[in-house]
Amino acid sequence: MPDDLPPPTQRNFPCNQCGANLEFAPDHDALKCPYCGAENTITIAPLAIEELGLWKIFFFVMSLLAVAGVIIAIVAANK
Ligand SMILES: [Zn+2]
Repeated sequence: MPDDLPPPTQRNFPCNQCGANLEFAPDHDALKCPYCGAENTITIAPLAIEELGLWKIFFFVMSLLAVAGVIIAIVAANK
C-alpha cells in the first residue's frame, strides 16, 4: 500500500493550461495555477459534496426510522 497519497481533505487537479498539479482547497471553487497563472474552475467538488449530502440525509432518515422502531417496540412491550 503506497503511503505517498495526499490526505483525503486535499485532492490534486491538473492545471487546464500547463498540466501542473494543483492542490484543491475545499473552501474554493477555483484555483489559480502558481506556475502559469491560469484560473482553473473545479467541477468535481460540487458533485462530491452533493453526493456526501445525499448520504448524510439517507443516514439521518435511517437513524430516525431506527429510533422510531425502538420507541414503538418499547410502547408495544409496555402495553
Ligand atoms: Zn498552469
